[in-house]
Amino acid sequence: MDLENFDEFISRTNGIGTLDLIKRKGLYTIPNSEANLFYNKILLPKLNLLKGLSYYNDIIRSINSGRGEAVAGNLRSAEENSRFIIERGCLSKFIESTTLKYDIALKNMDWHNMVNKGYTISSFGEAMRRIRSLDPSIKQLDSKSIFLAGKAVCSKHLEFPFYSIPIKDFNGLKNLRCKCGSKADYLTLAMPKVSALIGLASFIAGINPNSLYFVYSNLSRVVHPYGFTDFPKGQSYALWLRDLDSILSSIISLYKK
Ligand SMILES: [Zn+2]
Repeated sequence: MDLENFDEFISRTNGIGTLDLIKRKGLYTIPNSEANLFYNKILLPKLNLLKGLSYYNDIIRSINSGRGEAVAGNLRSAEENSRFIIERGCLSKFIESTTLKYDIALKNMDWHNMVNKGYTISSFGEAMRRIRSLDPSIKQLDSKSIFLAGKAVCSKHLEFPFYSIPIKDFNGLKNLRCKCGSKADYLTLAMPKVSALIGLASFIAGINPNSLYFVYSNLSRVVHPYGFTDFPKGQSYALWLRDLDSILSSIISLYKK
């Protein structure tokens, strides 16, 4: 058993992108007979720290299906599952710190309708620009200030009352206009894209988002355009484990304070 060597592999390749590693051919192989052992030693302690997250069950299910795909050499599906774990980890932090209405938007399947109607946050920068242009004193996101990253609408164009808050609840907010030109009466929540979510969750936690951005974009390149659906099995498992280890560490750091 080579756990020490694997730890060395993880630290030696820290900061190296998945694709660079594949191209360099400096990969590690975990024999099938030791796959469970590696999983138990490396991932289980981290998973224990994540219990209690809003989307913990989604995370566990994605790890289980990713694990099966990684063992089978289907790196694309394995890494796609890990990409979803980044999203669920950040979404947990974001929703727990802002409003459960986002969770309801998922459960009621309102999220995509709101996206289709233009209630979106496409980047962290966009969210913060909107918030600070309305209230430069905002230092942290909470159940109220997150509405400032939303969309201003008049009563006539109010499409999602449940996801909206009256502008008069904010004292001294300057005049906002609806798309029709009338004075806006409500702010409706906007749905963040994944990249925005990574930035927002990191901002809330007070951590640097770069490692999550880095691993997320790496995994996206594996999924598209490369695919790697028939990767050498022991190598695919080791690579999946390495990437997931770094993802779980980043998610844990969202919860450190
Ligand atoms: Zn209007």
